Amino acid sequence: MPFPPGDGRLYIDGAFVPASSGLTAAVEEKATGKVIGSYALGAAADIDRAVAAARAAQPGWAALSAPERAAYLRRFAGYLQDHYEELVEQSMRETGGVRAKAEDEVGTGLKQLALSAVQVSENAGDILPPYKAGKLSLSRAVPLGVLGLITPWNYPMNLAMRALAPGLAFGNTVVLKPAELTPVIGGQVLAAAARYAQLPPGVLNVVTGDGPGAGWPLARHQGVDMLDFTGSREVGLAIDRAAAGELRDIRLELGGSNAFVVLDDADTELAADCAMIASLEFQGQTCISASRHIVQRAVADRYLAAVTRRAAALRVGDPFDPTVALGPLISAAQVERLHRTIVEPSLAMGARLVTGGTYDGLFYRPTVLADVTPEMPAFREEIFGPVIPVTVVDTEAEAVALTNGLPMLMNSVFTRDLIRGLSVAERLQAGEVHVNDAHARHGADNQMSGFTRRQWIGLQRTPLELPTWATAPASEES
Ligand code: NAD
Repeated sequence: MPFPPGDGRLYIDGAFVPASSGLTAAVEEKATGKVIGSYALGAAADIDRAVAAARAAQPGWAALSAPERAAYLRRFAGYLQDHYEELVEQSMRETGGVRAKAEDEVGTGLKQLALSAVQVSENAGDILPPYKAGKLSLSRAVPLGVLGLITPWNYPMNLAMRALAPGLAFGNTVVLKPAELTPVIGGQVLAAAARYAQLPPGVLNVVTGDGPGAGWPLARHQGVDMLDFTGSREVGLAIDRAAAGELRDIRLELGGSNAFVVLDDADTELAADCAMIASLEFQGQTCISASRHIVQRAVADRYLAAVTRRAAALRVGDPFDPTVALGPLISAAQVERLHRTIVEPSLAMGARLVTGGTYDGLFYRPTVLADVTPEMPAFREEIFGPVIPVTVVDTEAEAVALTNGLPMLMNSVFTRDLIRGLSVAERLQAGEVHVNDAHARHGADNQMSGFTRRQWIGLQRTPLELPTWATAPASEES
């Protein structure tokens, strides 16, 4: 099969087909603007066909034995492994990330497949304590049915895989709508892997297209048993509102304003090293990037100097140049949003530009802003770009209160006193907090979820003893 398979077709019911509209759009390399492929502009009619194919395929797929499904997943992974180098380069071109980011993305995707193939062959349920004599109680995992996946552009392959791999492993079928900025690495290569692995038709369907045209019909489709959406809060909220009152199963993985807290006894050099990863890795375009640096006054000058020295030294450019640390932002719209709605208004409100603050096309210089206050967009908004906004506080309590004032996914706390770090971490309301570390190098294992529901089963092992009311002789009138 030719690689990359970016040839402007959808993958529905085991076949590559044009979009019902016949329309395609260009796939661009972000650093150069070069057209490197095309993708089909799927729409509601294509989503209907894909969901119907997934529904038809699901019972047969779920009926296979776990080792059979695991074998399909291993063949699927085999295709990706055989094309590992091409995939890394494809990710670098489509997302604009440097090699390490692309290797992380593709490697994590492969790990997720491997783990799912193992997980499905292990425990599929529990034996529960009997709640009455003579009863054997079992709880077993059963598939949800058809999964709808809508994924973003930042880590397109592994953010698709974290749902797709366990989802398929446990007997669900899938309709995937990848982000329009990364339709090849986020979708077409997965369709090619499904074809190579000879997954039964309909088990994995890939409908490329934009958000309103293809994403919305999938999000609203009544034939989808569970929708798994990863993306912005705005779109997540719209999906949540539309689903309200429908009792539909939706899972939303959104963004937040993550905090990086530097306490007054912190090792500021260590914190500054970690800040490069937390705020600047992949140009800060990660859902768990540090968006706000909240620093106690006693170490603020030292921390600011350490962060600035490091950020100013980083090279920005084509990610294929091995000396480059930061590639381009994903799109002109993202540059505009960062500069015009976050950096400029914050400067106008009194923030101080310490380094950076300039850009050339999609290439934005690593930027440090000092004197950032909680009213400024640089504090309040999810940054999603290579900007480090530093806010100074006097006390630990103030740092905790400010951190908890906004929604977030993951925080870091820096202190030389691990017990203090633990105590602060316990008070921060994020799903994940790291002490003296940047955001996690998530193992695929802690991203696994079964995409199953629990089914409780009761097996009566001894003759049933009916209650007396149920055994009373029927009256003559009845
Ligand atoms: P986005 O919401 O614009 O797009 C995400 C996906 O939704 C894309 O496939 C897009 O086509 C689709 N979409 C857009 N409009 C839609 C609509 N009206 N109906 C249905 N689908 C629609 O987000 P993005 O810009 O691609 O990604 C950045 C955001 O994603 C950030 O906020 C980031 O924090 C978040 N994110 C979260 C996680 C996580 O695991 N929590 C991971 C990565 C990114």
